[in-house]
Amino acid sequence: MKPAISLLILATLAAPASARAAEPAISVTLAPIAAPDHADAVGTVAVTLRFDGVAAAAGTPVLRLPLVASNVDTVATVMTGFEARDAAGPLRLTLRDVDLPETGMRDAVGGGPSREWLADRPVTGALTVRYSVPAQAALPPRGPAPPFSFSADGQGVSAAGHMFLLLPPGEGRYRTTYAWDLTRAPMGSRGVSSLGEGRRTAGELLTGAELRMSFFMAGRIGTWPAKVPAAGFFGAWQGSPCFDAKELLGWTGNLYDHYARFFARKDAQPYGVFLRHNPINAGGGVGLHRAFVTTFGENSCQDLGKIRLTLAHEMFHTFQPFIAEPGGLESSWFGEGLATFYQARLPFRFGLLTAEQYIDDVNWTAARYYTSVMARVPNREVAKRFWADTRVRTLPYDRGMLYFAVLDDELRKASGGKRSLDDLMKAMLAREATGARTSVADWEALLRQYSGEDAVGRFRAFLEGEMPVPASDAFGPCFQRVAKLLRRYELGFEPAVLAEQKRLVRGLIPGSAAASAGLRDGDEIVDPVPQDGIQGEQAQRLHLRIRRDQRVFSVAYLPRGDTVEAWQWERITGVPDKSCTLW
Ligand SMILES: [Zn+2]
Repeated sequence: MKPAISLLILATLAAPASARAAEPAISVTLAPIAAPDHADAVGTVAVTLRFDGVAAAAGTPVLRLPLVASNVDTVATVMTGFEARDAAGPLRLTLRDVDLPETGMRDAVGGGPSREWLADRPVTGALTVRYSVPAQAALPPRGPAPPFSFSADGQGVSAAGHMFLLLPPGEGRYRTTYAWDLTRAPMGSRGVSSLGEGRRTAGELLTGAELRMSFFMAGRIGTWPAKVPAAGFFGAWQGSPCFDAKELLGWTGNLYDHYARFFARKDAQPYGVFLRHNPINAGGGVGLHRAFVTTFGENSCQDLGKIRLTLAHEMFHTFQPFIAEPGGLESSWFGEGLATFYQARLPFRFGLLTAEQYIDDVNWTAARYYTSVMARVPNREVAKRFWADTRVRTLPYDRGMLYFAVLDDELRKASGGKRSLDDLMKAMLAREATGARTSVADWEALLRQYSGEDAVGRFRAFLEGEMPVPASDAFGPCFQRVAKLLRRYELGFEPAVLAEQKRLVRGLIPGSAAASAGLRDGDEIVDPVPQDGIQGEQAQRLHLRIRRDQRVFSVAYLPRGDTVEAWQWERITGVPDKSCTLW
């Protein structure tokens, strides 16, 4: 714990209206403010939070914000102009830093090192808190991370609730309103949140996790459709992608409608897809509450097929079940494995991908997994080494996908095609819908019920690191399994270096491609190095900017080591397209 710091709160705010709502309510108003030297750009975002029905005794934490969320620094240490007041007037808050247990929040992680604000007297009536955040509030990246941080570019600004929403501790549910004050924003600005455009109140009470997993985008931004509907799919983008954002979001909206039918979900709520620029590691994305965000970069025009798959993957997260016990990364094999399994299978089933596009995606995942030197690392190691090593970080996705492919095939064959993974997934979702905390024990119970005790044994072996190998026809009757010679990913030095604040090469492997290219222990790698994508690309060279002594220069090499046999699936000639799909 760090020493507590006192904040003297200014008494300059208007008196708030008294609390009326029977249930706790939170209203978030964001005011993007044009930069003083550049009226087209957003410079800061003024945040106003109003809480009704939130009580706290003197000396107890009123509000809380993690210092880091999913490996991204929040605004806890960079916010300015903090003020708070309640019905009794200005409220003096003291802050302290605490270490909280980490908790799973669907496909993000909450808790951890956090900042708390404690009141010096009991809080009474409506509480209003104001502070400002730089529109580009990103601290130096800690390494690979989802696109949550404040990012100002292309005359807009965006961030996830994770980054800046101070919320009361505990498991409360809140009537939630998101609103915008665009009076000081660049001309022509719009404000869109995961609840839709402008001032919007959620149709149901939101948990703190759901508030944090909301997304906000404002400024001169684009949307599809041009007018954001009150319910159903919409997309918003910030900046100038090199592809046709309207066409891409139209495809995604079509897939959304198919997903909604597949999961029998009738929504009276909006569902938002957010696209923004990412100069470092474009293509990554993350599912949020009724929304997801993904990023594009300079190479995205060539990679439109990859962006479609990312959109299909992230949007699937919004519908799918998750395992809450154990939470967080330890159960990511379930959430990420299912999403990776279905990201191409469902669009293919719905006629939105060709057979070739489908099997290419299967093969990409299979190649990355079967060439990985970490392929047999037990699942319990994943959480510990997730951010430090791309070969561990990709296991929940790749090994999870292949586990589900094996299981799906077994269920189909044992039932003569009547049952599939669809049924188990929907049963898990039904359990989640009762409000129960879904657990690994629930998953094992379903395996036992649908497939017998052997399936539980195979599942436990998978968690211990056993390599799943789907049958030759597991991806449908027009594909068959073949062994191909592929090369392992080999960075050539200690991978943990890339997840550290100052990236100094150590553990250089003599004779590796990195060593042959001239890299040396002690070299500083200037820019963050994304690897999850390149790990799956046999022919892609890794480009590093190196600082050695006073010199900065580039080193490039093909980060590949040993050649190994890897399973791939190829088209059987003569089997027509129409018999390819597994329903
Ligand atoms: Zn995912």
